[in-house]
Amino acid sequence: MNIVLMGLPGAGKGTQADKIVEKYGIPHISTGDMFRAAIQNGTELGLQAKSFMDQGALVPDEVTIGIVRERLSEADCDKGFLLDGFPRTTAQAEALDQILADLGKKVEHVINIEVERDDLVKRLTGRRICKVCGSSYHLIFNPPKEAGICDKDGGELYQRADDNPETVNNRLEVNIKQSQPLLDFYREKHILTNINGQQDINDVFAEVDALLKGNRN
Ligand SMILES: [Zn+2]
Repeated sequence: MNIVLMGLPGAGKGTQADKIVEKYGIPHISTGDMFRAAIQNGTELGLQAKSFMDQGALVPDEVTIGIVRERLSEADCDKGFLLDGFPRTTAQAEALDQILADLGKKVEHVINIEVERDDLVKRLTGRRICKVCGSSYHLIFNPPKEAGICDKDGGELYQRADDNPETVNNRLEVNIKQSQPLLDFYREKHILTNINGQQDINDVFAEVDALLKGNRN
């Protein structure tokens, strides 16, 4: 079961990824983990990636794609994999198709967790942190007992600069622009399924699960 998981920040991709890998016993392959492992193992490509990252530069596509190729060639991917954070562009998607073709495989499902932008903004701007102990709250998902105050020590809660509406909107804008061509690419291949992410986490997973079992429509 070869899956690419997509979704904007705040859509709940991480939660669904955890549930998919647990149920189907396939490795969760995220770009960050892949880079970390390649660097830790000191592979040629890992060292190349590290040199770019150390300079604060973007890792070029040929290095990233090489790392993906190595990872997908490992034995634990024989029964499938869940790719998360790759591909990000249609050029990477085409490279992925080539890698998989060389391995006698293909992407079977592209799952896109959809949540309306206004909701994403609410989710992404709701985090509050205690000034005293650093505990994290969320106005919707994990509110403190008393507004603005930490349950544990009465410390004042604040919003991180990264979580303010302007920063969040900019981040979403960039992500929407970037993902659109990729969604079109997979839609044209008829392997894209949009899943409504604006429901309970378990209901979202029920839809994902039905799709993966081949029962959906
Ligand atoms: Zn606190």
